[in-house]
Amino acid sequence: MPIFYTPDLTDTSKEIILSDTEFKHVKNTLRKKVGDSLQTTNGNGLLAECRIKNLSLREIILQVEQIVRKEKSRPHIALAFSLLKQHNELIIEKCTELGVYEFFPFFAQRNVKTSLSSNQFERLQKIAISAIKQCDSAHLPEIHKPSNFNELLKKLSREYMPVLAWEEENRQNLHDVLHNTEKDICLIVGPEGGFEEKEVDFAREHLARIVSLGNHILRAETAAITIAANTIFYQLERNRNFY
Ligand code: SAM
Repeated sequence: MPIFYTPDLTDTSKEIILSDTEFKHVKNTLRKKVGDSLQTTNGNGLLAECRIKNLSLREIILQVEQIVRKEKSRPHIALAFSLLKQHNELIIEKCTELGVYEFFPFFAQRNVKTSLSSNQFERLQKIAISAIKQCDSAHLPEIHKPSNFNELLKKLSREYMPVLAWEEENRQNLHDVLHNTEKDICLIVGPEGGFEEKEVDFAREHLARIVSLGNHILRAETAAITIAANTIFYQLERNRNFY
């Protein structure tokens, strides 16, 4: 059963109002009745067990019965991806499901897509909300406003260990890098046409580890989902409760 997104939930909430999309989902799709139970999250680590107290034409009032806090495991795994002509939504959906902590979309030299409208940005946020509802996650990943590659690297290297996927790298693979770090990790995947060599050099100067994802040239969206899945499963190997 999906969990519902209620950003106003706090750890002292006694009642929550479901309206708009969540209201329609509960009333029209799931045909829930007064007395039925359901779970909600504020997307910031709080999960609430609730019971439907009142159901009117426009809103549902939920009685909060229990609230738990789910801590996001460390290291945090972030994903910086070059905005693509297509499939940005697929990257957000699948990597949110996997448990990525936050997203940094960026523009690289060879970018085909060179802007992201506010509607497209809002759509990505909606996709992330649907993905946490579907995978029972209490953490809604932040999607940062797109930035250019060099500016992003300067910022990232302060907070994260950058790990850049480059199809021309043939010495180091992902596990070699994951093995030697406890730091929060930001995975970086390039555009359809790949990174310019000088971008990879710039990343190295900003402490990025350059890794291969194997001997096949993966589509950018495949590379993004693959590197996120491998990194999160690597954490699960070490910590069965990685969340
Ligand atoms: N430049 C390449 C080309 O046009 O042949 C392909 C770029 S690939 C479609 C898009 C991105 O996916 C790359 O920038 C890189 O980040 C990642 N990628 C794809 N295959 C990879 C591999 N085998 N190892 C590491 N990264 C890979």
